[in-house]
Amino acid sequence: MYDVLIVGAGVIGGMLARQLSRYDLKICMLEKENDVAMGATKANSGIVHGGYDPEPGTLKAKLNAEGVQKLYDVADEIHAPYRKNGSFVCAFGTPEEEATVRELYERGLENGIKGLEILTGDEARALEPALSDKVSLVLNVTNAGIVCPYELTVAAIGNAMDNGAELKVNFAVDQIEKTAEGFKVTAKSGEVVSGKYLVNCAGAYSDRVAQMVGDNFFTIIPRAGEYMLLDKNEGSRVSHTIFQVPSVEGKGILVSPTVDGNLLTGPTAAKVESPSCTETTPEGLEIVARLAAKSVPSVNFRQVITSFSGVRSSEKGGDFIICPAKSVENMVHVAAIDSPGLTSCVAIADYAIEQLQAMGLALVQKANWCPTRENPHAFREMSDEEKDAYIKEHPAYGKIVCRCETVSEGEIRDAIRRNPPAHDIDGVKRRTRSGMGRCQGGFCMPYVMKLLSEENGQPMETITKNGEGSAQLTGKL
Ligand SMILES: Cc1cc2nc3c(=O)[nH]c(=O)nc-3n(C[C@H](O)[C@H](O)[C@H](O)COP(=O)(O)OP(=O)(O)OC[C@H]3O[C@@H](n4cnc5c(N)ncnc54)[C@H](O)[C@@H]3O)c2cc1C
Repeated sequence: MYDVLIVGAGVIGGMLARQLSRYDLKICMLEKENDVAMGATKANSGIVHGGYDPEPGTLKAKLNAEGVQKLYDVADEIHAPYRKNGSFVCAFGTPEEEATVRELYERGLENGIKGLEILTGDEARALEPALSDKVSLVLNVTNAGIVCPYELTVAAIGNAMDNGAELKVNFAVDQIEKTAEGFKVTAKSGEVVSGKYLVNCAGAYSDRVAQMVGDNFFTIIPRAGEYMLLDKNEGSRVSHTIFQVPSVEGKGILVSPTVDGNLLTGPTAAKVESPSCTETTPEGLEIVARLAAKSVPSVNFRQVITSFSGVRSSEKGGDFIICPAKSVENMVHVAAIDSPGLTSCVAIADYAIEQLQAMGLALVQKANWCPTRENPHAFREMSDEEKDAYIKEHPAYGKIVCRCETVSEGEIRDAIRRNPPAHDIDGVKRRTRSGMGRCQGGFCMPYVMKLLSEENGQPMETITKNGEGSAQLTGKL
């Protein structure tokens, strides 16, 4: 019997496990996919939002404001890469948009955000020369940053697991039964686990998980956002994250560097039928290209290396839902975590822990809790001397598998062995960046498959790209 079961291993479930792992508790994350960070956490803008946008008085405003510094602090502890690059929110000459910039500044002050200032278009262009000459007024958000959402999640879950938390992948929660001791949770596969407390962090499926205990008081409205990612030779086109003034549709199309040195443009905002609608469309990508060029006309879209789409978990109330279940005791819903959910993830986890404590969960600090996680050894970031010394001790680092991103065999073997272990090609890709470069895995994929096969003692034809139904080989010729 676990003390706490967490449904969903996205950034919210993962960060909750990490924050709970400091206490003397038996924790298990239940994830329906073959890996962690497979929902909205895999496909978003990766922006640490400054906190000027949420309506004052909402949970979003509170947790965004608290969450920024908490996120930077935890990212330092677990060696998740981030950069405080600051963001610009731009008006394009109309009195309405300029009024919105001033309104956001005031709202930011009300939310307690420091480091906000208003710049004229020329002042902003002095800091960011590629900015359109149509930009007339800018909110400069100096505490904003960029983070890699899946590397953050892998690091948080790895740290939680190193501290004793467990993770079950391919565990699609299908039924939840309230028992005298807590909950009996059954997966689609028939596997059963039991726990005293249950936390619903199922992202866009959180309303379905809520319905399993008879809670029908919220409905998730899935809204997709399409992106185009550009090659690293466009990565320094801008140094800040460039937003346009937001609308009812969201924070608008951004142009931003990523922590890994690419340039990201997007997202759109369109209601979709289901959370699984993650395809990109010609219409969506046309909107991204057109509106990104409005802010930064020189973006070279011939350098696009991939496009993708992520689905937001919106709810009609517009706020995060973090509260006890209504139909059963000892369960917390952490639902409708759309933007700025990534920014707020540590603050959200801490808030959910307060709710669990109020229900009676005893929080006894572990004597040997380790808040840090060893930095993955990124070969490409080492100096020549460091590379030389490291290869002498670890020869597998001397063999480059992914040429575009300079990823070595040693890093890939580590990603398959470390917590949370990569089980498939995309899992290796998210942990090491092999296959994320210009050729998108054309060269390295067969070698990555060979390493997965060797490390896990698995026949090559059972290695998948991203779980069931995505095998790459059908048999020997
Ligand atoms: C287009 C877009 C842009 C965004 N940009 C930003 C941004 O720049 N900054 C920011 O702060 N936030 C941003 N967000 C919001 C941020 O991505 C989310 O708040 C965050 O990723 C939510 O994490 P989560 O763990 O709640 O959900 P998810 O990442 O979706 O995780 C939920 C997990 O639950 C699993 N699951 C679902 N059902 C079950 C089940 N029955 N059994 C077991 N497991 C299950 C899923 O497989 C998934 O892994 C953006 C979101 C989108 C979509």
